[in-house]
Amino acid sequence: MNIGIIGGGQLGLMMAQAAKLLHHKIISLDPNPRCPLASFSDLHITASYNDLEKIEYLVSKSDVITYEFENVDLDLISKFEKLIPQGRRALEISKNRLLEKEMAEKLGIKTAKFHKLSDENIEFYPCIIKTTTGGYDGKGQFVISNKEDLKSADFDINKEYIVEEYISFDYESSVIITRDSFGRIECFPTPINNHKNNILNTSLVTKDFPMIVKKKMEEYSKKIIENLDYIGTMAIEYFITNEDVIFNELAPRPHNSGHYSIEGCSVSQFENHILAITNEVIKKPVLLNNTLMLNILGQDNTYIENAKKTNNIYLHMYGKDEFITNRKMGHITFLRNDLEDINQTLIHITKE
Ligand code: ADP
Ligand code: MG
Repeated sequence: MNIGIIGGGQLGLMMAQAAKLLHHKIISLDPNPRCPLASFSDLHITASYNDLEKIEYLVSKSDVITYEFENVDLDLISKFEKLIPQGRRALEISKNRLLEKEMAEKLGIKTAKFHKLSDENIEFYPCIIKTTTGGYDGKGQFVISNKEDLKSADFDINKEYIVEEYISFDYESSVIITRDSFGRIECFPTPINNHKNNILNTSLVTKDFPMIVKKKMEEYSKKIIENLDYIGTMAIEYFITNEDVIFNELAPRPHNSGHYSIEGCSVSQFENHILAITNEVIKKPVLLNNTLMLNILGQDNTYIENAKKTNNIYLHMYGKDEFITNRKMGHITFLRNDLEDINQTLIHITKE
């Protein structure tokens, strides 16, 4: 098939890598002619995401279309929805933190307490105030402990904000889940996700993840993906306290916390995404060994040098043109029998 991909970042690139192994052709669309996917796709269209004429050109060349990020224009997606198995609804919900949490509540899924910020009324402290739309990697977020903090927060008056109860979680996890056009659903093994400055740092996947927590997260995630009538791979993030599972947010696309599956599982999140959107049956992911994924940001040059001197690791660089602080440049994955070996390898790669 000819698969059109809107967005040429690392997610688009890794979707395309999986798709090529399945003998599909890739047409990419991104405003940057040097984006990671541009040199890998069969045809690259340099255009902005709301350029209707260029999107129509992409549509004319594609049998099916997928997007790799949430900031695509909702009206455009609606116009070509028949060609986009991920559909419109998941995108609409995930673009807006209020809609996202309201949906979870309706489905009986626990969330942090929340309300829309108006006239700086805050119903609970400590809290996190986030832009309702457009935020990622912690951008547009303020942690507020008391009324004083509120005064110093630098809100953009043109934006709408949501107030969320601050959750003192034990850890964060996510369910990477795929649904195909036959209604079959598969969940990937659940990672423990560690963030640094609100950006994912590591995902650790072991066979020891608590079963009760995993079952609850999967039950919630299946409800969500079915309710959204979504086809493809998506990610749903949760906070875990004791054995309580609290919904955080969803991303209607493959996700950074699922990159470990490329080498760590019998099938990757990207392969299952491509199978689903091309009307094939998805596969059951099986964890091959304890796996750790480490992100490489613009400031993490030493990780690359260290990784090159380490045995049995997989280094993925995304081919981005400029190393910028906090920009995701690549990731490293390794599989080990022993958790102590995972720690040792991590220390070795991240040492100064
Ligand atoms: P995004 O990933 O879109 O920037 P998130 O809502 O996932 O936004 O927030 C980023 C990170 O900030 C989370 O992974 C988590 O570590 C922290 N965080 C977000 N919301 C809360 C909350 N209500 N309580 C505690 N920590 C939070
Ligand atoms: Mg998040």
